[in-house]
Amino acid sequence: MPAVEDRRAAKIREKLADGKLPRAFPSGPRPGIDTNPPSVRLVMGAPEVCSGCDEAIRAGEPRWEFEYAATLRVCFHETCERLWEEALGLDQGE
Ligand SMILES: [Zn+2]
Repeated sequence: MPAVEDRRAAKIREKLADGKLPRAFPSGPRPGIDTNPPSVRLVMGAPEVCSGCDEAIRAGEPRWEFEYAATLRVCFHETCERLWEEALGLDQGE
């Protein structure tokens, strides 16, 4: 794993331990082309801050959005979403 991913993975695990990141998807199974509930989206849009690594997601860069409620939405770089899944232990099918 490259150093930058290592650092991001450590940060994501820390946030999970601190309760700062959700420990599950909003509903339904893991993300996948056919199985995403409407609350899980791969989108492109305005710049945002990644909920995982706290670094910028640039305008037009794809990001995963997870909507839990009107008041709780998290978004990740594609890389960070995968690291988050790994940290949750949801990647066992691969
Ligand atoms: Zn990130």
